[in-house]
Amino acid sequence: MLEELKQKVCDANLMLPKYGLVTFTWGNVSEIDHEKGLIVIKPSGVPYETMKPSDMVVVDLEGNVVEGDLNPSSDMPTHVELYKAFPEIGGVVHTHSSYATSWAQSGLDIPCYGTTHADYIYGDVPCLRCLTKEEIDEAYEKNTGVLIVDYFKKTGREVLAVNAALCKNHGPFAWGKDSTDAVHNAVVLEEVAKMAYRARLINPEVQPAPQELQDKHYMRKHGPNAYYGQKKYVSAGDDGV
Ligand code: 13P
Repeated sequence: MLEELKQKVCDANLMLPKYGLVTFTWGNVSEIDHEKGLIVIKPSGVPYETMKPSDMVVVDLEGNVVEGDLNPSSDMPTHVELYKAFPEIGGVVHTHSSYATSWAQSGLDIPCYGTTHADYIYGDVPCLRCLTKEEIDEAYEKNTGVLIVDYFKKTGREVLAVNAALCKNHGPFAWGKDSTDAVHNAVVLEEVAKMAYRARLINPEVQPAPQELQDKHYMRKHGPNAYYGQKKYVSAGDDGV
């Protein structure tokens, strides 16, 4: 079942160590087949070195395992909440990538200090609150997803324009049109987190880039009047990721 998607999701997972976003078995990637209502996700705790497409686990939108011998990623319920809330999301990634996690542990949004950030993410990357004891005890991973979903519903920010969020004291979740795009966004997030950290270190008074510059850079790559790159490439492929 969903053999092509298993291969794609396995490949997307293997991009995490390739781009230096994970250590040991940390992190997970999934993709949804919206038509079938099925999600293919990494198994929990399996080393990337030996991971293969047949290890991928198929789950439904209730989080039930539909196919697979291994347990799905422990963060699967977070992925499920995002897919249920936002049909435009096709792939989800969680990592403990060092710089993004450092911002998450500090409890701070990542401001848009420059055009590298503005090219991919519209505005700051929000750092969401830590879950309460009740939320942790009741359904930790599901409630992590609920928290992210609530933030976007309340603020009206668009999930494909702000393609990541930090969970305080935990780490980043990123997403995209599919699993490849989601990993691409997680790689970008880590780079902008690193640059923002250094910018603040060099100049503790640093301010976000002017709004008009942020708008220019975001809009030239996204939306109806985008003109960056070549017509034959789309999104994640732009940068060869
Ligand atoms: P899984 O191996 O269960 O996906 O967990 C990895 C991780 O990073 C947990 O937050």
